[in-house]
Amino acid sequence: MKNRVQSQATVGVNWQQVWELNILAKVRNFIWRSLTNSLPTMKALQHRQVEVPEWCPLCHSEPEDGLHALVSCPAARCIWCLTSIWKQYGSVDTLEDWWNNLIRTRTPSDIEMAAVVLWSIWHNRNEVVWNGKCRSAIQILSSALDFKSQLRLTNQRAIHSHIPQRQQPFQLWSRPPESHLKCNVDAALFLDPSSYGFWMRDKKFKWWRSGGNAWGIQNPTIAKALGIREALCCIKDLREK
Ligand SMILES: [Zn+2]
Repeated sequence: MKNRVQSQATVGVNWQQVWELNILAKVRNFIWRSLTNSLPTMKALQHRQVEVPEWCPLCHSEPEDGLHALVSCPAARCIWCLTSIWKQYGSVDTLEDWWNNLIRTRTPSDIEMAAVVLWSIWHNRNEVVWNGKCRSAIQILSSALDFKSQLRLTNQRAIHSHIPQRQQPFQLWSRPPESHLKCNVDAALFLDPSSYGFWMRDKKFKWWRSGGNAWGIQNPTIAKALGIREALCCIKDLREK
């Protein structure tokens, strides 16, 4: 990853960098297909004389090319917004330009993460189109992290160096109002799986507790979000009883 792209203009893809990415071979192959306009997007199918509408099958608001499907579609943006990788979508015209910006501005680890997120976004798009399966942005990102985790376990990389250690102000727990529940959620990051837990209490200290494993999750915010989701499911079950 030492040979960074030198110019901000479109200069083509540095394939050497793609081949050197520390990602699964099928993800690397997917990146190659994406950057050579080989994905069967709606516009690409039309170009091949296939009679399909050009509109994105997920948002139905714009023609679907590689850049739209993987970056600018609202469905894709929901996933990118959960990451710290690429929050500036910019005014690029092609996926190639987007990729070159990524290569130029992000670390090798971020680029590898972006590659598996791209793969997961396309996988999700196909699941929706062909199987009618919808997943949340968190679930899609979790699968992306799981892919990266597989490789990390293989290579035994250090994983905790980038996690900021923040001092939290001490707060006293107070009882919730009558007929309310108060829920505290926390998460602990381990090599794999990470874990989360939640504790719900009412004014009379009647309490419920649960937790679970967050496979492939190394982001504390996402791990806590999974705990919150479990807590909401628990509340739903309590209301139905
Ligand atoms: Zn779309």
